[in-house]
Amino acid sequence: MVASRAAREKKAAAQAGPLARLRIDLDDDQQFVYKISCTECVAKGHRRWSAYRPGEDNGFMAAMDRWVFHLTEKHPDHDAPCLAFLAEAQQRLHERRGQ
Ligand SMILES: [Zn+2]
Repeated sequence: MVASRAAREKKAAAQAGPLARLRIDLDDDQQFVYKISCTECVAKGHRRWSAYRPGEDNGFMAAMDRWVFHLTEKHPDHDAPCLAFLAEAQQRLHERRGQ
């Protein structure tokens, strides 16, 4: 369990890119909780930005979608592997709004 969490954390952090600080916690039900915060927004003293989403793959996707939007809105000059998912993230946002 711990090893798999560490492996997921490492993989997710690589996708999120160097600006993200990514952590996976366990909640009371031993479910993964994904937490992404923005190191640059923290460093500049802006209101701390973070996404916090419970769940395994669903939680990962929801947190990463929010991170992708944060990067494109606030840090358009930065590149990160997760930006490859921008179109998918927009599609999911669109579907959620349509519900
Ligand atoms: Zn930021």
